[in-house]
Amino acid sequence: MSAIVVAKFGGTSVADYQSMSRCADIVLANPDTRLVVVSASSGVTNLLVELTQAQLEDERRQQLLKEIASIQYKILDKLGYPDNVAARIDKLLSRIGVLSESLTLNRNKAIMDELLAQGEQCSSALFAAVLREKGESASAFDVRQVMRTDSHFGRAEPQIEQIAELCSQHLAPLLEQQRIVTQGFIGADEQGSTTTLGRGGSDYSAALLAEALKASAVEIWTDVAGIYTTDPRLAPNASPIKEISFNEAAEMATFGAKVLHPATILPAVRQKIQVFVGSSIAPEKGGTWIRHQVSDEPIYRAVAVRRDQTLLNLHSLQMLHAQGFLAETFATLARHKISVDLITTSEVNVSLTLDKTGSDSAGNSLLSEALLQELSQHCRVRVEENLALVAIIGNKIATTAGVCRRVFEVLEPHNVRMICQGASPHNLCVLVSESEAAQVVRALHENLFEAA
Ligand code: ASP
Ligand code: MG
Repeated sequence: MSAIVVAKFGGTSVADYQSMSRCADIVLANPDTRLVVVSASSGVTNLLVELTQAQLEDERRQQLLKEIASIQYKILDKLGYPDNVAARIDKLLSRIGVLSESLTLNRNKAIMDELLAQGEQCSSALFAAVLREKGESASAFDVRQVMRTDSHFGRAEPQIEQIAELCSQHLAPLLEQQRIVTQGFIGADEQGSTTTLGRGGSDYSAALLAEALKASAVEIWTDVAGIYTTDPRLAPNASPIKEISFNEAAEMATFGAKVLHPATILPAVRQKIQVFVGSSIAPEKGGTWIRHQVSDEPIYRAVAVRRDQTLLNLHSLQMLHAQGFLAETFATLARHKISVDLITTSEVNVSLTLDKTGSDSAGNSLLSEALLQELSQHCRVRVEENLALVAIIGNKIATTAGVCRRVFEVLEPHNVRMICQGASPHNLCVLVSESEAAQVVRALHENLFEAA
């Protein structure tokens, strides 16, 4: 079989009939796009999540069921209620009703995952119907036949080898006959129970399927025209990046750019499968290719900003026995499961940055009293909040003369709390106050990307 392209469409891209129709045209424009992976229509997963909540009033439950049904029916209506599809959607909707009712009696995680999975079941059935309406031969395929995971409901771990084997058995032959539309986000364990990969998991699904099928490309169609040199809301002259390496894209995601999270495309990276990110609303605008090898590796690729940073400054009290200070400090942090981002040190001080988004799912700060107290036993602790990390991302940053000068001339009017440079060839980071971050990003972008 020739090259297979896997195209994934996110929730907003399959929100309604018109959006689905636009995406179907994108699929049809490329004969190699054999496999389509869809999210649930925009809003549906959130409604399903609400259905899993404890102590849901029956009235609210009925209202949620109605809202979910209405999203599907609006699309069915535009399709003219084709018999088989209408029956399929009705079956899925009644399943949602049954599952949500059984959750009121027994809040079982397996049932929750099966409930969440219905959103993608609906959107894939409808998307296949939209393709058929355009005269294409296409079917919906239940990804649970091939997306084998462990039984960690809510955040299941895919079983890479088994997925590859199941795909070559059950999915690859179908792709030779027609286009197949399948679900992102969901899978099944060995017993056949439905699992989910965690919120936003559809990109991961697409990359996993691409890996299993040895696809030539994965396309992630979303509502932005690819990756930009910086957030266009911060710098109006930010421009789309045509091509970027996996390393640079991973750095960008790490430093807060709202691109694909590197973990989600890891399966594609492993197989050196190129990844495209583009807008399904304006496909003509093109998008960004993320590739293992790129033709151009500029010194400056992008400026990213990550807010909500906390700076922990630790001053050693044991100057005379200074050896072991760092080891002790990091052992304490590790015991408290704190993940440190940046580090700078002097003889008797160490400064670390922590990410607030790392708080636990109940929203508790990672800097617990217990941790601070433990640290205080061997050092003096100072905590600064409301900081932002601005990262210049590119190539050979650490080994190119003049980079620091161009960065520092922009930083002149600002108070820089910390600088990290030299460890990675792909970034130079500065920590500034949250309130100055936008200004710093704009000025850096102007100097590095817009100067003639
Ligand atoms: N529908 C799921 C969610 O909203 C998965 C996804 O969209 O990627 O989280
Ligand atoms: Mg999504």
